[in-house]
Amino acid sequence: MPSDTPPPGTDPARHAQRLPRRIHRLRMLGMGLAALPIGMVLMENQAGAGHWGFLLFTTVLWPQLALWLALRHREPFRGEIRNLLLDSILAGMWVPLMAFNLLPSVMLVTLATVDKISTGIDRLWYWSLPLMLAGGIAAGLATGFELQPVTSMAVMIACLPMLLIHSIAVSQASYRLVRKVKRQNRQLDELSRRDTLTSLDSRRHWQERASALLEQCAATGDPATLLMIDIDHFKAINDHHGHAAGDDVLRATADVIRHSIRGQDDAGRLGGDEFAVVLRHTDVEAAATVARRIREGVEALRVQSAPGLRPTVSLGLAEAMAPQEGLRAWMEAADRALYRAKSAGRNRLAVHDGLEAAIDTP
Ligand code: GH3
Ligand code: MG
Repeated sequence: MPSDTPPPGTDPARHAQRLPRRIHRLRMLGMGLAALPIGMVLMENQAGAGHWGFLLFTTVLWPQLALWLALRHREPFRGEIRNLLLDSILAGMWVPLMAFNLLPSVMLVTLATVDKISTGIDRLWYWSLPLMLAGGIAAGLATGFELQPVTSMAVMIACLPMLLIHSIAVSQASYRLVRKVKRQNRQLDELSRRDTLTSLDSRRHWQERASALLEQCAATGDPATLLMIDIDHFKAINDHHGHAAGDDVLRATADVIRHSIRGQDDAGRLGGDEFAVVLRHTDVEAAATVARRIREGVEALRVQSAPGLRPTVSLGLAEAMAPQEGLRAWMEAADRALYRAKSAGRNRLAVHDGLEAAIDTP
């Protein structure tokens, strides 16, 4: 049997009652509309009081009883699944009770199955089929399998409101569901593109954009430069000032990067205390100016949660490689320059230039 997990932040008791309450409204509508063709068939067949009493039970009493049963169930969601299966038994029972009148019988069986499918509950419709058959056999045995399958024009007309309104209601529910899924997909997509702490591009999204830019540069011959930035002694910042102050430094560094580049450049957080920027249409000299701006900006940062802290960053630069070398090689080149900036004493910039990296000290 399926289970229903409330979304975070929702009251679990209220959430558990949502399905029974939603289905109660639909059940009242569906049963109310079904009363028309069934009643018409009972009139034509001059059915007895038992049939009419059962019609009253199915279409008026049962929707209320079902809600009451589901709400007092230990798990209202499961209680409602049981009700949905009881709906199927009732639909199956009405087939022999209407003496197999063709159109309303097919309509009841079909719509009861559609209802189960449209709940989205795994294999519910599949379980409903044998129950519908069992309901039909039980009611047939009790009433003698009377057979009057011809549907009159009056019964056909009585079927129309149910066919029309039920189809529209089910389509609307599916439409709402599709829109909700689309909205959630958009939110998920947005989440996967953004680093939640700094709001810069996430590693994956940044890599996608950087790869695309590299291909574009190969096609047009435009220069582009990759800038790798890593906070100096960040582990010590966490250790001495706390993880929250570390997070503040990460956010503040991201802000400095954001304000030092142009809208067309892509900045991302690759993970931990490492950031990367691709600078479009920018050669190494122009990129070095941006890198110095970032280095000085971080040096001037003062973090409220750690007033004595003087954060610094080391930076590595590499101009776009030959396209066949790919993003990985480009990142490795900028990383090698960054490594040299670290080993030369940190808080400085190194430029990858062939085999060696030129160091730019503050
Ligand atoms: P170096 O100067 O050589 O870069 O030394 P470092 O200490 O900065 O380098 P290291 O890579 O050892 O330290 C990175 C630290 O960043 C380790 C990890 O605990 C911390 N870290 C990773 N993600 C986060 C985060 O989201 N928030 C905070 N506060 N710390 C993080
Ligand atoms: Mg570091």
